[in-house]
Amino acid sequence: MTVRQMLMVSAATLFLSALGTGAAFQGGHERAKVVLTRSIELPGTVIQVDFGEGRFDVGDEVILRHVEGAAEAVATYFGRFPVARARVLILPEGGRGGVSQGTTWGHRGGMQGFTRIRVGEKVTPGELKDDWMMTHELVHMAFPDVAEEHHWIEEGMATYVEPIARVQAGQLEAKTIWRDMMEGMPKGEPEPGDEGLDHTHTWGRTYWGGGLFCLVADTEIRKQTHNRKGLQDALRAVVDAGGSIDQEWPLERVFAVGDQATGTHVLSTMYKRWSVEPVPVDLAALWGQLGVRRSGDDVEFDAKAPLAKVREAITRRVAGTGHRLVHEN
Ligand SMILES: [Zn+2]
Repeated sequence: MTVRQMLMVSAATLFLSALGTGAAFQGGHERAKVVLTRSIELPGTVIQVDFGEGRFDVGDEVILRHVEGAAEAVATYFGRFPVARARVLILPEGGRGGVSQGTTWGHRGGMQGFTRIRVGEKVTPGELKDDWMMTHELVHMAFPDVAEEHHWIEEGMATYVEPIARVQAGQLEAKTIWRDMMEGMPKGEPEPGDEGLDHTHTWGRTYWGGGLFCLVADTEIRKQTHNRKGLQDALRAVVDAGGSIDQEWPLERVFAVGDQATGTHVLSTMYKRWSVEPVPVDLAALWGQLGVRRSGDDVEFDAKAPLAKVREAITRRVAGTGHRLVHEN
């Protein structure tokens, strides 16, 4: 979730949720009482982690490690953490577990990126292991602020990249995310009356429609470059060009920088159609080409499928330190 969705929530809901945690919400600045401040250092980055009042069953250190794992996954995918100075505010929630209501802003309180997230005081190590939200929020820091109608690319990119980043960092099995994509991507297909991603602001089209755009773009870039480049190279180039959440960019610029990095026109060409008209995707055919098929509750891979190498490249674990990417030649 980014700040725009927050603004779409009614003022009454905001007021109640602020009261519920003893926090005052003013224009994106958080006035919650901070009782503990720690910091996480990654190459080129300091992330300040602030804890609001409360007591976690697992202890603060385990929560801090969870933020660190999410930050490492993001740094692995993008080659480095996307901003030099970031803040994560953990708001403990009494009487419950889980991780919820993450929101991320650019340019707040002297920080390039600011994430506020609620974590239940009873959260378990298992819930933290399954949590995707912390990584999703930090992924938002790796994309510039674009105009309101393009919200789908901000959420779609985070939806698509978050599990891949966790697989590349060795935190998740590749099979898990292909199974999740088989389940989730159909929710991104256009429904009757759809007017393209820039004009159809439903939940399905925003999160999964944007995710579908990313999956199709990734596959197409890899097909056109004989699997030497992918969406990851495009997104890394955007971050390297300074396109993080604290910067405002036209979406055309994001795609131009991305296309230049892959030596293709995939993003700009897809955007021209997908933004203004419904573009259905034959997902059954795509899974077949990528060599992913259902097997009971799980999936199995077909290494002989025509795009099996593309699938392997998308979710290849990135080895070693320095977050270097190894490309298949
Ligand atoms: Zn989001």
